[in-house]
Amino acid sequence: MDKNLLMQGAESVLMHTYSRFPIVLDHGEGMYLYETDGTKYLDFAAGIAVFALGYGNEEYNEALKSQVDKLLHTSNYYYNEPAYAAAKSVCEASGMERVFFTNSGAEAVEGALKIARRYYYNKTGKNDSTIIAMDHSFHGRTMGAVSVTGKAAYREPFEPLIGGIRFAEYNNLASVEALFDDTTAAVIMETVQGEGGIYPADSEFIKGVRKLCDERGALLILDEIQCGMGRTGTMFAYQQYGVLPDVVTIAKALGCGVPVGAFAARGIAAEVLVPGDHGSTYGGNPFACKAAETVFALFEKQHVLENVNGMKTYLWDTLESIRAEFPCIIGHRGLGLMQGLAFDRPVGEIVKATMKHGCILIAAGNDVIRFIPPLVIGKEHVDEMAKALRAAIREVTE
Ligand SMILES: *Cc1c(COP(=O)(O)O)cnc(C)c1O
Repeated sequence: MDKNLLMQGAESVLMHTYSRFPIVLDHGEGMYLYETDGTKYLDFAAGIAVFALGYGNEEYNEALKSQVDKLLHTSNYYYNEPAYAAAKSVCEASGMERVFFTNSGAEAVEGALKIARRYYYNKTGKNDSTIIAMDHSFHGRTMGAVSVTGKAAYREPFEPLIGGIRFAEYNNLASVEALFDDTTAAVIMETVQGEGGIYPADSEFIKGVRKLCDERGALLILDEIQCGMGRTGTMFAYQQYGVLPDVVTIAKALGCGVPVGAFAARGIAAEVLVPGDHGSTYGGNPFACKAAETVFALFEKQHVLENVNGMKTYLWDTLESIRAEFPCIIGHRGLGLMQGLAFDRPVGEIVKATMKHGCILIAAGNDVIRFIPPLVIGKEHVDEMAKALRAAIREVTE
């Protein structure tokens, strides 16, 4: 089908919730995506930190195909092997004890919020709980997830949202402490803020929040939907801080393209939800769980974490050298293969120009370019991205 006709047709029937780039993607191979007309792009966005294993990963594809022929869906009234295997893998990798599978990240956040409310209700018999969330956070687009999202523009048009949410300043422990009182059921935050502009937690901050939660009997919910699943060099970013949450939310790379998320918990937080409290028709179906199970297996077999740790410094050094060349770049932050360059201007034009030079990047907020490639990346891909980005910045700023 003609590309322009397709784009026009799609715009006429899809809701206008996205400003899409004018390309029509058809297939992928390794680190590259191809348009229907064959135009090739190096992918530094991975479908928003989803496709960790690279496109066309044969073992991953074969595992999914075999599950398609066996069983796609059963509901959660019965057991199935992939759900058990995937849950075991999530627990082993995260240090959690029980898992609930969802169909998206936002749903995982909803579940974590329900644990917090139920925990407080069990403890106090009251329903006046509050939850502390962070400025500049992003937790998804459903009503509960929007309620704890720090960006006012995502919240205000949809108010009234769920009540009892208080916002603290990220990486400012005193601001969290000031919001604590007897009604605090939980603190929710990203270990590395993603959409908000790629801000890793300071070590003192995250440890301090953990300590506050312990002292005051509140749960710590870490949202690792973007920064988890190996992206920062450990399976979960909190493992680099020596901190364990009570509840973790996971999605994006968990299924590497098949929609699956999870919330996992330990200790009392793993026990508060009982039959009747929560459910999902699709959540944790054999197909989605086969994807998650296979992702964990291939992370081991294809040495994905080793590659992240081998490549993170190369990406860091490359972006540092680009930053040194362009005064419009005013910051460089990140952890592992989740890095961002902050500009003194909106980055939309630079992202578009980089795409014309054959590399897909995405922004995080208005003025940060985010680098979240598939985790199987090699040095040659970083070099290729750097070349496209340099050319694009020159074009846009000179
Ligand atoms: C993407 C994201 C979500 C929402 O996930 P969806 O699958 O889009 O619902 C929640 N939290 C964080 C940190 C995310 O990056």
